[in-house]
Amino acid sequence: MIRFENVTKRYRGTSKPALSGVDFEVQRGEFVFLVGASGSGKSSCLRLILREDVPTTGRVAVLGRDLRALANRKVPYFRRHIGSVFQDFRLLPSKTVYQNVAFTLQVTGSSRGFIQQAVPEALALVGLDGKEKRMPHELSGGEQQRVAIARALVNRPQVLLADEPTGNLDPATSVDIMQLLARINAGGTTVLMATHEAGFVDQMRRRVIELRDGEMVRDEVHGGYGDTSNIPRLVPEEVRGAAAAAALTAVQEVQRQTADLSVVRAALAEELDAQRRAAAASPAVTRPAADATPQVVEPPEPVREPGVVEPPDVVQPQPAAARPAPAGPRTHPIVIPEVDVAELGVADRLGLSDQDDEEVGPTS
Ligand code: ADP
Ligand code: MG
Repeated sequence: MIRFENVTKRYRGTSKPALSGVDFEVQRGEFVFLVGASGSGKSSCLRLILREDVPTTGRVAVLGRDLRALANRKVPYFRRHIGSVFQDFRLLPSKTVYQNVAFTLQVTGSSRGFIQQAVPEALALVGLDGKEKRMPHELSGGEQQRVAIARALVNRPQVLLADEPTGNLDPATSVDIMQLLARINAGGTTVLMATHEAGFVDQMRRRVIELRDGEMVRDEVHGGYGDTSNIPRLVPEEVRGAAAAAALTAVQEVQRQTADLSVVRAALAEELDAQRRAAAASPAVTRPAADATPQVVEPPEPVREPGVVEPPDVVQPQPAAARPAPAGPRTHPIVIPEVDVAELGVADRLGLSDQDDEEVGPTS
């Protein structure tokens, strides 16, 4: 289902390859952890699987396709068979939960009937029924990640890729998300999850592929995480412009899944507009999303700290003006860079210059 054959990835301008001679195969229905310290090459692997990048040498085959041989114009159709979720959720902040999940289906031309059936099903699967009308900022971090998972699954992909999906969540919420991923896997979806967090991997007792400096050092069918002494704990992240960054990554996520540049452009304009309005409403300070607050955990203290979880039901919708003063660290005003969508390389990546409706079907 996913096969790496002696894959090496060298980024331009770097001396050391990000991946070196990586060789593994994931079978249909497996749950695989891709583990390793920050910088070990996990995200590079996932980008190769999504055909966001190609190996320098070696071969990546996904769903029976040699991705090197996959024409650019077929990439968007190929990606519809692969759901992906990320540490930063990538939701469209000015759209409701329902709209976030429905959006890519609408853009890619799914029928209204399918959307009306698939979206509630996906939301029920992740335990979010009843929250269709909430906005992302009215949800806890765990709920936002559930929306992202629902969106990733709404097209019923065969593979779900998760890149540090619990990286912005507290331990208790992370466990919930892990259980959800396990349930999705039990339903037949192949799951590949990159993480540097030891605890979950040990608890789940699933196959573990470990990378160290781009080399595969372990592939165990029921591995734990192993030696954790060298693994950096969660590190602080820059929160400046977190909302703007979230909006942009959300739009890029839509770009990833769609082939209609005009709709993407409209979505981006809408997001930038919503962000500007929000910035105008609170000119000096922006409250970062609760989960965007950097979590600084100093080794060797374990990450587990009780009492951080907000029960979903206490999260009430509030108008922006009535929101409480920022609780977390202060951030700079949102500065949204002017983005020319064409410059993001979307047209190229999505093969818009040469549209083609041909579906890339799974062959394995
Ligand atoms: P991980 O996800 O395990 O943290 P990455 O795959 O992001 O690791 O990165 C692996 C290595 O490749 C790191 O040394 C990183 O700095 C480098 N790298 C990743 N992306 C790029 C890029 N676009 N250009 C140059 N170097 C990169
Ligand atoms: Mg990464």
